[in-house]
Amino acid sequence: MKVLVINCGSSSLKYQLFDMEDESVLAKGLVERIGNKGSNLTQKVSGRENYVVERPLKDHKDAIKLVVDTLTDKNNGVIGNMSEISAVGHRVVHGGEKYAESVLIDDEVMKAMEECIKLAPLHNPPNIIGIKACQALMPNVPMVAVFDTSFHQTMSEEAYMYALPYEFYQKFKIRRYGFHGTSHKYVSKVAAEMLGKKAEDLKMITCHLGNGGSITAVKNGKSIDTSMGFTPLEGIVMGTRCGNIDPAILTYLINEEGYTTEELDNILNKKSGLLGLSGESSDFRDINAGEQKGNERCKLALKVYIYKIKQFIGSYVASMNGLDCLVFTAGIGENAYEIRERVCENMEYLGIKIDKEKNRVRGVAVDFTAEGSRVKVLAIPTDEELMIARDTVSLI
Ligand code: ADP
Repeated sequence: MKVLVINCGSSSLKYQLFDMEDESVLAKGLVERIGNKGSNLTQKVSGRENYVVERPLKDHKDAIKLVVDTLTDKNNGVIGNMSEISAVGHRVVHGGEKYAESVLIDDEVMKAMEECIKLAPLHNPPNIIGIKACQALMPNVPMVAVFDTSFHQTMSEEAYMYALPYEFYQKFKIRRYGFHGTSHKYVSKVAAEMLGKKAEDLKMITCHLGNGGSITAVKNGKSIDTSMGFTPLEGIVMGTRCGNIDPAILTYLINEEGYTTEELDNILNKKSGLLGLSGESSDFRDINAGEQKGNERCKLALKVYIYKIKQFIGSYVASMNGLDCLVFTAGIGENAYEIRERVCENMEYLGIKIDKEKNRVRGVAVDFTAEGSRVKVLAIPTDEELMIARDTVSLI
């Protein structure tokens, strides 16, 4: 069975076509600049040169059509025709409180996703547009929505409630939702497999460290707390997002400088984090290079970044009354062994001791637990697309 996975952003679209017989990736690609000048598609197929198509794409429907045309292209495609695609799995950022699992998309699901637009104004609209475009092109193919928030719906009230007037929860649904759920779920399952144990028997902390980043406490296979909150702004320091700050800073800035909500939103989401602290870049590799050249602000940015991650790990050990396994994933977590080493420094009290030599690898699954460490420490490349494809198969 062949499953197409779609991750639709506002002007870009990522896709992967899986053969679910052996979970192999037949093709994957990226469409960029949808609705703008210079729109193009790049498709990668193992063992072939990248195939690039430049074509005006006025909207997401055009983009999806180009994806299907490319997948079925006589010379550069991987399937004979569209009818070989048995189902489409869509990444959807926000499922609100309604969806604790992935779902087969019908009119009611579409309505629920539209109701969540207020909660994720930047992400849900392009996700919905992508689904509608696929439905128009493949009206008889079943579609599944896989939500970033679903995995965290197992959190209990004390973890998801903010101590604000209760009416805010009733009226505006203001609570912690958490994101990157598909990634946290995937790596926690792989971690259990690597340890030869059942996820149901383990207390884990999964650290998804990419441009965006979040940390999740996974107890007995279920998310019990996570660092991102009502929005993906809360939690650890990220590439350009500030993570946790004292909320009174906002009222102070409004009073002192007269910032508008739009300006503040831009500062907190786009000008803060590693970029804000370093003044150099939001990309870990640049900051790391800066630190090595003796740049004090890059040094500071990394110190704050690491300190906050350690704080979340400590707090989640307390929440779970213990820890069996610590997992690193996503761009930084999978590749930056320097960060893994520094996060795990001085954690002996929590039972974490790493083998620095084993840790010195990038982009591969590795168990770098030191002998005598109570806690297993792993790096695992995430694969949200595969998780979406698996959920899609199980639902159809
Ligand atoms: P997102 O999906 O949130 O956009 P990624 O998971 O791709 O982000 O992570 C991007 C981050 O990963 C960047 O800060 C980048 O510097 C870092 N990264 C990617 N590859 C490497 C590498 N080989 N070594 C160190 N850091 C890396």
